[in-house]
Amino acid sequence: MGLGSLFKRKKDKQEVIEECHIDINTNDCDGCEKCSIACPNNVLIVVDDSCSVRDAQVCKSCRVCVAICPNDCITVN
Ligand code: SF4
Ligand code: SF4
Repeated sequence: MGLGSLFKRKKDKQEVIEECHIDINTNDCDGCEKCSIACPNNVLIVVDDSCSVRDAQVCKSCRVCVAICPNDCITVN
């Protein structure tokens, strides 16, 4: 293993730490769209009464979606 791969590993780890992680319990989601409407960064999308993540890379971890979901479906780490 050369120095190059060491640096690459460190860089990958850093990217993982910075990435927002969103979990949605789709079993409890009723598709109300409150989260997708409230999200300031248009991260979430509801299709066929089920919420999913459209683009996790633009999530700023503000947790507005977590607070507004009436069914406690969303966790953001
Ligand atoms: S944490 Fe904030 S930016 Fe991320 S999905 Fe929820 S509302 Fe959107
Ligand atoms: S606010 Fe909760 S119940 Fe409503 S669409 Fe979003 S995840 Fe589903």
